[in-house]
Amino acid sequence: MIRIVTLGEFPPDVLDHVQRRLHAAYGMGCELQGEAKLPKSALDQALGGYDGAKLIDQIDDDTELYGDDKLLYLTTAPISAPLGPMGKGPTDGFAQQGAGKCVVSSALLGGKNQLSLEAGLAKRAAHYVGHLWDLHHCYDPRCAMHPGWAPGFLQYPEVALCLFCREKSEKKIKLGQG
Ligand SMILES: [Zn+2]
Ligand SMILES: [Zn+2]
Repeated sequence: MIRIVTLGEFPPDVLDHVQRRLHAAYGMGCELQGEAKLPKSALDQALGGYDGAKLIDQIDDDTELYGDDKLLYLTTAPISAPLGPMGKGPTDGFAQQGAGKCVVSSALLGGKNQLSLEAGLAKRAAHYVGHLWDLHHCYDPRCAMHPGWAPGFLQYPEVALCLFCREKSEKKIKLGQG
């Protein structure tokens, strides 16, 4: 089961759309779990946003994860990554690769040269949930595992997984349930 916890206000139809798209992409139930508070302690002034790893660690919520449950936090606040060799890192979310929790931000969606809030949030959610099943970045621009900072991500607003990523996620999900 994919459980969603919101850290801010989202229109119900947008959340509904995200749930449907995740269900379609991974063939797994997706439930709205509730709300939690954004941990202010994870705000990194130097980065100009929330440190995704810290945010997940410091969040105060009582959602229990069972078995292969995955937890997706949704926030409107920007997520920032430390400066890497390529400059500023991705700012749309953070996932514990191959583990249980991720956070996705709606920052910048609906703006200039961006996907709509609905389409963009669903695609970012599918991307970071994919990392939880240990999927890596994908060269196929139509695939949700194509990196969010690459132009191809914006060209294909539909949530889809390429055959390779789909098969890998299906294997991981089976393993987790078996
Ligand atoms: Zn990624
Ligand atoms: Zn792929």
